[in-house]
Amino acid sequence: MHENFSLKPYNTFGVEAKAKYFTEVRSTEELNEVLEFSNRQKLNTLFLGGGSNVLFTKDFDGSVIKLSLKGISETTLDDNHVLVTAKAGENWHEFVIHCLEKNYGGLENLSLIPGNVGTSPMQNIGAYGTEIKDIFVNCKALNLKNFEVETLNLEQCKFGYRDSIFKQEGKGKYVILEVTFRLTTQNHIIKTEYGAIQSELQKSGIENPTIQDVSRAVIHIRQSKLPDPKEIGNAGSFFKNPTIPLAQFKELEQKFENIQGYLMETR
Ligand SMILES: Cc1cc2nc3c(=O)[nH]c(=O)nc-3n(C[C@H](O)[C@H](O)[C@H](O)COP(=O)(O)OP(=O)(O)OC[C@H]3O[C@@H](n4cnc5c(N)ncnc54)[C@H](O)[C@@H]3O)c2cc1C
Repeated sequence: MHENFSLKPYNTFGVEAKAKYFTEVRSTEELNEVLEFSNRQKLNTLFLGGGSNVLFTKDFDGSVIKLSLKGISETTLDDNHVLVTAKAGENWHEFVIHCLEKNYGGLENLSLIPGNVGTSPMQNIGAYGTEIKDIFVNCKALNLKNFEVETLNLEQCKFGYRDSIFKQEGKGKYVILEVTFRLTTQNHIIKTEYGAIQSELQKSGIENPTIQDVSRAVIHIRQSKLPDPKEIGNAGSFFKNPTIPLAQFKELEQKFENIQGYLMETR
């Protein structure tokens, strides 16, 4: 545990702010120990993954816990699917690449999103027509009220557009320890209709893209559009697309013929 510790390297804005206490935990045992300490000292606690969705406006007068639990495991589900579980501290993009190298499909459109696996359910991360809810099976989370580990399935997580139980009634109640995804091992579902993926693939002369081609296209588009937080501090887009009824969208289409819209499932 460190005292008066600089959080500058731990947030993608690169903001200089200090934590009264800072601990990097690599196991659930270490996590339990530091939580006991924080509870005994009645400290405010902040969990940190990759620090790509936080903005420090002042020093944090409490205990910052950086979640660095690592490990990836898998189980074959059937001829076409595998269940892959990653611990909270695995870097999201490295996890995506790991799965692509094994030719597991489902994550390719989510390439290059900053942050860690354990944070991905918080806002149901999404990009280029995919959200984690499309491949999510469950996550294990420590209930901070009773210190029991709970398994929350897709329904219990109440995923919505950049939303989940962890931002609503479960806010501050859980720390996510690991997440399990259901990925394809063959007959991959290729999604190229969102954003500039198709034109990016055409530029490279690719007619029948593989999941790896889609990932490369997404990486290329993202690199051309978004500043790299290592060079310019940022936390990605702050905005959410408006969600409107289909009838209203049809009306708008009459007025603005180039308007972009995507169908969403309703909960
Ligand atoms: C350049 C850039 C591009 C981005 N593009 C996208 C995008 O396309 N789509 C998208 O959805 N998001 C995007 N984001 C936002 C960001 O990548 C995601 O929100 C990501 O999931 C944040 O992960 P993190 O580990 O960095 O979270 P952090 O910033 O470390 O934490 C975010 C919040 O979650 C809490 N938290 C972290 N880990 C846990 C845990 N294990 N259990 C409980 N609480 C936890 C923290 O306390 C904090 O409140 C982008 C960000 C950047 C900088």
